[in-house]
Amino acid sequence: MSIAENIARIREEMNAAAIAAGRKPEDILLCAATKMNDSEKVRQAIAAGVDCCGENRVQELTAKLADNAYQGAPVHFIGHLQTNKVKQVVGKVDLIQSVDSQRLLDAINREALRQGICQDVLLEVNIGQEESKSGFSKDELPEILEKMGDYPNIRVRGLMAIPPICENSTKNRKFFQEMWQLTVDIRAKKYDNVWVDILSMGMSDDYAEAIACGSTMIRVGTAIFGKRNYP
Ligand SMILES: *Cc1c(COP(=O)(O)O)cnc(C)c1O
Repeated sequence: MSIAENIARIREEMNAAAIAAGRKPEDILLCAATKMNDSEKVRQAIAAGVDCCGENRVQELTAKLADNAYQGAPVHFIGHLQTNKVKQVVGKVDLIQSVDSQRLLDAINREALRQGICQDVLLEVNIGQEESKSGFSKDELPEILEKMGDYPNIRVRGLMAIPPICENSTKNRKFFQEMWQLTVDIRAKKYDNVWVDILSMGMSDDYAEAIACGSTMIRVGTAIFGKRNYP
């Protein structure tokens, strides 16, 4: 199957999942997770109508930007970002989805201030409380959101999560539902520099479930590009 065929099939499944959940298909965006796929494949995905691309590594992002891989389509950063690399990402991407520490918020704000811009971000939540994953814990969120008033050059647009791999869809749903509830709770309060309209969750194996639970953005790699070849 070609990249375009894969995307067409995913769109159909996205639409079906949205309608089954009483939601509007246009309220859910498809972010192509492009890690380890070259500029040519990225261009094919954009031509086939993905809404945006998400990169994991700074080096790949920089190379593909130089190569005009994204053709003006929105680009997001979705991988772990080290504070010493924010200069290469802030102002270069439309959204940093993977903000996972206060130190990183400090560094992003400093760089955005220097550039005279406001950087949109999502806060990553370690919803399964896994040692191996980064992100804020559920309990840390209110405190960090209160502090967002100190970051005038950052706007929090929502939350992102990579839930644990679950052996069944009931367990999976529990994490997705918890994430959705967090966005509801945040919207019910008034935090400065916080405007929550994005809930980024769902990947190749579970995006239909994530949409059923309120995801507004799915990040899909394998189902678009095929299996990645790790060196
Ligand atoms: C790779 C990646 C994805 C996509 O994963 P697939 O299972 O290949 O769809 C989504 N989100 C993040 C943060 C990723 O690194």
